[in-house]
Amino acid sequence: MIKVFRRTNCFVTNFGRNRSFIGKKSTVGSHFHRQMSSSSSRSSTSSSDDDDSDRAVLEAMGKSMSQMTIGSGYTWSALLEDISEEKFKNIIILTGAGISTSAGIPDFRTKGTGLYDNLQEYNLPYAEAVFDINYFRNKPQAFYTLAKEIMPGKYPPTLTHHFIKYLNDKEILLRCYTQNIDGLERLAGLDDEKLVEAHGTFATSRCIKCHDPVEKDIIDKALMAGEPLQCSKKLKKSGKECGGWIKPDIVFFGEGLPDRFHTLIEEDFDKCDLCITMGTSLYVQEHV
Ligand SMILES: [Zn+2]
Repeated sequence: MIKVFRRTNCFVTNFGRNRSFIGKKSTVGSHFHRQMSSSSSRSSTSSSDDDDSDRAVLEAMGKSMSQMTIGSGYTWSALLEDISEEKFKNIIILTGAGISTSAGIPDFRTKGTGLYDNLQEYNLPYAEAVFDINYFRNKPQAFYTLAKEIMPGKYPPTLTHHFIKYLNDKEILLRCYTQNIDGLERLAGLDDEKLVEAHGTFATSRCIKCHDPVEKDIIDKALMAGEPLQCSKKLKKSGKECGGWIKPDIVFFGEGLPDRFHTLIEEDFDKCDLCITMGTSLYVQEHV
C-alpha cells in the first residue's frame, strides 16, 4: 500500500487532520510492488554519485508508474517530476513489510509462507510469541530457529529501497522511518543518520539481562546455527557468568520503541513537506 501526504504535520500522532491525502487505493501498492519486483535488478553496491544509476531509478519508476493515478488526479509521473524538480525539501518516507516482499522476504505474519510452519514444533501459544520478550526469556529457541530466515544478508534491496537512497543522494530525504528489520535500507546505502529503524535492527545485539553488547560476528554465528547464545559476562559479586540470553536489538512485543524514534519523530514531522508511506497500512495488529 502506498500513501502520499503533502504538507503534513504530526500525522502519526494526529492522523486525521492537517494533511492532504493523495493516495489511498490499496491496489496501487500491490501494483507498485509487482512493478518493483519485475524491474529491480540493480546492484546493492551502486555508487551514490552515479548519475546513470539515479537515472535508472527514475526511469524504472517512471516506466512502471507513469500512467498510474495515485489519487486526487496526482500521478506517479507528476510526483516523480515534482521530486526531480526539488519541489520538496524535507521528505519523510515510512516503510513497512510490503516494500520487502518483492525482494523475496516473506512477511512472517502471513500464515502458509513457511516461516511459521517451521515453528510448529515449538507449540507457540500464538504465532507472534516468537517475538515476545517474555516468551523469549524462557524459550529463546523458537526465535533462534526463525532468525536465520529473516536476518539481513540473504536478500538484496529492491528498487523501492534504491528510490529512498536516491532521495537521500538528492539531499531531500529528511528521514526514512522503517518498520522492517531486514536491514535493506542500510544495504541500499542509506546513512544511519537518515534512518530510523522503528522496530530495531539486527546490526547490534545485547544480553537481555545485563544489557552488555555482544559483537556482531559472535551473535551472527549463533543465529545462523540456530543455537541460543548466553551472556558470558562475569558478574562482579559472585564471579559467575551472567547467563542471560543474547538478543539482536530488534524490538520485541513487550519492549518499547528505540529512543531515537521518540527523539526524532516530532521535530521531523514539523519540518516535513512530503510524506510517502510504502508497504504498510501503518496499523500494527496486536495479539490478544
Ligand atoms: Zn548478561
